[in-house]
Amino acid sequence: MHPSRRTVLGAGALVGPALLTSTGAVGSGAAVAAAPDSRRTAATRPFPTSPFTLGIASGDPAPDGFVIWTRLALEPLADDGLGGVPSRRYDVVWELAEAESFRRVARRGTVSAGPETAHAVHVELTGLRPGREYWFRFRVGRHVSGVGRGVTAPAPGSLPASMTVAFASCSNYPAGFFTAYRHLADERPDLVLHLGDYQYEGPANAANLRPHAGPETTTLAGYRQRLAQYKTDPDLQAAHAAAPWLVVWDDHEVDNNYAAEVSEKPAEQRQFVDRRVAAYRAYYENMPLRRTSVPSGPGMQLFRRISWGQLATFHMLDTRQYRSDQANGDGFKPRGGGYDDPARSLPGHFQEDWLLDGFADSTARWDVLGQQVFFGGRQNAEAAVPTVSMDAWDGYPASRQRITQGWVDAGVRNPVVLTGDVHAHWGSDLFLDYADPTTPVGSEFVTTSITSGGDGYDDPDGAHPWADDNPNLTFWTNLRGYVSTTITPQAMTVDYRCLPRVTTPGAEVFTRRSYVVEDRVRGMQQTADAPLVTTAARRALPSDEQVVADTIREETGY
Ligand code: FE
Ligand code: CA
Repeated sequence: MHPSRRTVLGAGALVGPALLTSTGAVGSGAAVAAAPDSRRTAATRPFPTSPFTLGIASGDPAPDGFVIWTRLALEPLADDGLGGVPSRRYDVVWELAEAESFRRVARRGTVSAGPETAHAVHVELTGLRPGREYWFRFRVGRHVSGVGRGVTAPAPGSLPASMTVAFASCSNYPAGFFTAYRHLADERPDLVLHLGDYQYEGPANAANLRPHAGPETTTLAGYRQRLAQYKTDPDLQAAHAAAPWLVVWDDHEVDNNYAAEVSEKPAEQRQFVDRRVAAYRAYYENMPLRRTSVPSGPGMQLFRRISWGQLATFHMLDTRQYRSDQANGDGFKPRGGGYDDPARSLPGHFQEDWLLDGFADSTARWDVLGQQVFFGGRQNAEAAVPTVSMDAWDGYPASRQRITQGWVDAGVRNPVVLTGDVHAHWGSDLFLDYADPTTPVGSEFVTTSITSGGDGYDDPDGAHPWADDNPNLTFWTNLRGYVSTTITPQAMTVDYRCLPRVTTPGAEVFTRRSYVVEDRVRGMQQTADAPLVTTAARRALPSDEQVVADTIREETGY
């Protein structure tokens, strides 16, 4: 039984057993379910304006429920990170319905929001029916939040006919409008995977299109303020309201290119563990995560598995918190510095073992790795001495080999890797040996950024200059967007969704290229191709040298 701060059963039909849990506080102690809360509340002091300025969210679906989230703020950009909410407790009522109209409330409960979480609340709903939609909202006094759509996972033994999954990464607020999130919301997928760089840590810069508030984020107040600023974005709010999310972070939620407890810049190392603690705490507060992810000491449990019946298992990895430090500097560097030492690991050895156990135990039709950094091999053979990304799996080849061999040895039926981080759409088939790319053992789909890198450009052939020397690379375009997939027992279809521009609002979305992976068939097969050729949106493709320079710049810094 989970600890419960306060549980109130509402009127209306109860769907399943009345097991409701909620928590409002990091490290809150266990209490008996439905125990009265003796603390004073602020029910008699209503908010003058709506405190639901940061939207709502749901996440981490199970067959019997999901997490719902909100955070109260009146002035989201307040410097102290507390959103202009008085430093006291508020009762937040949540409501669940079986229809979007909300004509009948199926369940209702109350959770207490306090300053210790910057007035964020997480409610873990249980006892719901598998494989269906629900609708939720919050109330404080007379103020009502927007309505969110939650989805429960199908029953464990079932084989659903289909599911839709969209995945995204790298939403840098100053770089452009979050139009891609709006289009993703309009698709109403069953599940959204956010693969990291949900926020960026850089300081306010008045020259930016949409400047950050505050200095570079290093403190709890700073991270809370930054996340609040992002959460005010209406397109991001729409994407959260549209579907449950599975979130994993990359580096910018804390500090560019950090590794475990090693900061990017040596000069910032002394305070780095404190900085990471602050960042992880604010991340938990602002994401629809389960209680298992409440930060503890300097760490936070983020890697986890979510199953969609027998159709798909999502292995969500954390490739930042436990990684060995980059071997030879953080950027594109010649192979060296002991980069291939088998003692080194990108996910950390215990997370590798957890993943290998997951492959061995899997009975899913599709095993999907949701993770941060480029998995397949890519070398820049145009440098005098070929270079690879020391921050990606190329910088940790022994770790990559153990995982790839692991799914091959376990006989995983359909392994697929989903990736973010690099601010461009890529496709790569996966091999045991990238020097001998003849027989693929899986496929990797890499999503571009929501905004990072700005408007970008499109190559009519969808081919990066590196594809000549890296035959595993199937596709590349430097436009912004996200990836939409449909998974059935027979196939996974993948649409690379693109926007012609993000520096002006309201751009349309189009499918740049499509692939299918068929059940038990290794390798992706192209099914559609639509380059950006309209004269209004087309931009000149730079020289190969400039494309490579842009690629390395985007992957090394912001
Ligand atoms: Fe990024
Ligand atoms: Ca990154």
